[in-house]
Amino acid sequence: MWGGRTGALLRAWGLWPAGVRGRRPLGCNAASLAGNNSPQCWNCGGPGVPKRGDGFFCPQCRALQPPDLTRDYFSLMDCNRAFAVDTAKLQNRYQQLQRLVHPDFFSQRSQTEKDFSEKHATLVNDAYKTLLAPLSRGLYLLKLHGVEIAEGTDYAVDQQFLMEIMEINEKLAEAQSEAAMKEIESIVRAKQKELSDNVSKAFEQDDFEKAKEILTKMRYFSNVEEKIKLKKIPL
Ligand SMILES: [Zn+2]
Repeated sequence: MWGGRTGALLRAWGLWPAGVRGRRPLGCNAASLAGNNSPQCWNCGGPGVPKRGDGFFCPQCRALQPPDLTRDYFSLMDCNRAFAVDTAKLQNRYQQLQRLVHPDFFSQRSQTEKDFSEKHATLVNDAYKTLLAPLSRGLYLLKLHGVEIAEGTDYAVDQQFLMEIMEINEKLAEAQSEAAMKEIESIVRAKQKELSDNVSKAFEQDDFEKAKEILTKMRYFSNVEEKIKLKKIPL
């Protein structure tokens, strides 16, 4: 009965006793982990902090709430859970969230809110980066469907594909001119585009094995892209 506004007022006057409702221990976000749609505010104990949408702040006391770790990146970034994402929309959403939770805006607030803003900002950055690049987006989407490609494991790709990668690597090792580098870059870019289109189709058809196979190939090309970047750094 002392929740919400009353609680906030009492707390502001220093009358809110420690250890009662509304003073939940930090890091013990049991309410949101249990899937409660309206966890209580850590600060004032008020109900109705929306789990979805942009309810990062308590509607009563406006305190920043801890990030909801059960929320996936697609939901956080307001994207459909699909491989095809609108990257312009993703970028807008990223900027919008940064304006809400960036630690710079919390320098005058409590340590708890500072810590939460750091956590939110890290989460938003990770979500943005993961969903922006096709390879990481695909791997993440695959993981949401319970399929993982272990790092460092060579997933069986066909012999012909391995030959293709070997040839490109040889070309790259031999490339001495800017023109030669540009040629390799455009080959790799075209390949990644083709694979990206194919993986998008595989996801549309819920064919996760196919998606896994294509993403493995994309990873090989991504390694080539890294090598290109390194080679371009002037010595
Ligand atoms: Zn509150």
